[in-house]
Amino acid sequence: MTIPLMDLQAQYRTIQGDIDKAIREVMESGHFILGPNVNQLEREVADYLGVDHAVGVASGTDALVLSLRALGIGPGDEVIMPAYTFFATAGAVMLAGATPVFVDIHPETYCLDGEQVVGRLTSRTKAIIPVHLYGHPADMSLLEELRSSYGLKVIEDNAQAFGAEYRGRKTGSIGDAGCLSFFPSKNLGAYGDGGMVVTNDGFIAEEVRKLRTHGWRKKYYPEVVGYNSRLDELQAAILRVKLRHVDAWNDRRRSLANQYSRHFSSLGIGVPNEAPYARHVFHLYVIRVKEREKVQQQLSKEGVASAVYYPQPVHLSGPCRPLGYDEGNFPVSELASQETLAIPLYPEMSVEQLQKVLEVVELAVSPQHELVIP
Ligand SMILES: *Cc1c(COP(=O)(O)O)cnc(C)c1O
Repeated sequence: MTIPLMDLQAQYRTIQGDIDKAIREVMESGHFILGPNVNQLEREVADYLGVDHAVGVASGTDALVLSLRALGIGPGDEVIMPAYTFFATAGAVMLAGATPVFVDIHPETYCLDGEQVVGRLTSRTKAIIPVHLYGHPADMSLLEELRSSYGLKVIEDNAQAFGAEYRGRKTGSIGDAGCLSFFPSKNLGAYGDGGMVVTNDGFIAEEVRKLRTHGWRKKYYPEVVGYNSRLDELQAAILRVKLRHVDAWNDRRRSLANQYSRHFSSLGIGVPNEAPYARHVFHLYVIRVKEREKVQQQLSKEGVASAVYYPQPVHLSGPCRPLGYDEGNFPVSELASQETLAIPLYPEMSVEQLQKVLEVVELAVSPQHELVIP
């Protein structure tokens, strides 16, 4: 029995009838790019998150790029973001022509440390991108203050946290814009690429709508140079089926994560935290281990998948080298990139599978603990 990190085929089997029907209806409609399913999905996601507008785009990366451009952020502007995230957060800022300015993460949440943002503000700072990493919401309190006192824009990277909550509000609905990814592995995943920008700001929504289709509102009369970045009907129809299940799936993720954490913390293994303000949706279940490669080899030998998100903090990545950062700049991020390890967690995981992971991880990790306990 090999236990994968996630099991999208198992999920498909639980909803196969509805998915197959939705796909067939799109094929028969002959309508493929934007269209009725995209419109409905935009309405349904907006209602789910409690926002006024939602605009489907081609990916989570594009959701970030188009949000930045909708806010007029580009060359000469600085955007503050965490040093520890998926590279796309920084890539989007650079694609928009702006400069990412990094801050370290909070050691307990893996999300940007609001306290550090203040020290990085300059006259060029235009926006902050908190990333709700692994499904845990970033602390938004200081960011909301900076937003009202300095007029800074807040763009939430909500790619990993669909359904998470910050003080009872859905993440993605709190800042000026929220960016969703429907990459297949995300908590609400399509069967291909997809993304969405959500906002209460009618201007941002209209700008993103314009940018996603060649920069025009009236067909063939572009007002700016835009993109071809649209959500398709097949993905939207699939996502509409899955949206009905996402709360149950997230509840199941939380329940599995709690069982992991209860066991692992009794063994002294570093487990994910949930801040008092947060409802975590466990896109990934990430533990901390010292000799990570050895642990991974042991897990793999016993048939348990694991993966590293992410082996390199963004400030040390190739494209960011010209920005002048160096090792030692963001110690919390750098240590996380050396010690974090994601283990299997997905809603369809069985009790037997969970039990096996518990045992195999315990075996793989405990020898190290005997070494550190005198
Ligand atoms: C997945 C992800 C993205 C990008 O989404 P795509 O749909 O893959 O383009 C951006 N930021 C974070 C934190 C992500 O996890």
